[in-house]
Amino acid sequence: MKTKKKINVAIDGTSSSGKSTMAKALASYAGYTYIDTGAMYRAVTLFCLQNGLIADGKVDVEELEKRMGEISISFKINKNGGQSTCLNGVDVEKEIRGLEVSNNVSLVAAIAFVRHEMVRQQQAMAKKKGVVMDGRDIGTTVLPDAEIKVFVTSSALVRAQRRYAEMLAKGDTSVTLDDIVKNVEMRDHLDSTRKESPLRQAPDAILLDSTPLTIEGQRQWLFDLFDNYLKTH
Ligand code: C5P
Repeated sequence: MKTKKKINVAIDGTSSSGKSTMAKALASYAGYTYIDTGAMYRAVTLFCLQNGLIADGKVDVEELEKRMGEISISFKINKNGGQSTCLNGVDVEKEIRGLEVSNNVSLVAAIAFVRHEMVRQQQAMAKKKGVVMDGRDIGTTVLPDAEIKVFVTSSALVRAQRRYAEMLAKGDTSVTLDDIVKNVEMRDHLDSTRKESPLRQAPDAILLDSTPLTIEGQRQWLFDLFDNYLKTH
């Protein structure tokens, strides 16, 4: 239901749990802006890889801190009508979804000054409301006052199978299902054990275990929650 009423919706959860698919669908259903915060951490990671700031699984934190001012992240609508992430004006949507970025992003996302800067930008984007934002710390840290908060998870295998099918559909045959299961488990571990705003369900977030649901079912669940909120507030 497209609506003039503007609220903020925070969707957090584990890697590849379908949260971005749900969030995007809700944004288009409600006429809201979708913000993919994972893409922002991925873009910072790509900047690090492009500039030799990651070696042997370690980030050159001092150098990155000096160069944070050189990183500008934005979103644009691409020719397919989808959203592309831009790093310093260049469309990097494809590069940020590859396994090299996926394997390093949780290291970069654990750095406090990186998080502070991303959170600052995310809060500015949501100031006028009418935003559906997905990530790991949206309900707890970025938008603690969001009117709707959802925390999505499902089994690691189901999540890896979904990501694998997506990659195959895009013609990417460079990775195996096993690589993806390992990546999903590693990111869950790093994301939930880091010191700085770890992946955690906000006390007032609604938990959705998407294991038994199709993507369509997951989408509908969120639309119903949203419509119900508007009806009752
Ligand atoms: O959502 P996506 O899987 O693209 O996010 C990539 C990574 O970015 C996550 O594994 C996590 O390390 C980091 N992230 C984060 N906080 C967010 C969004 C993503 O730490 N709000």
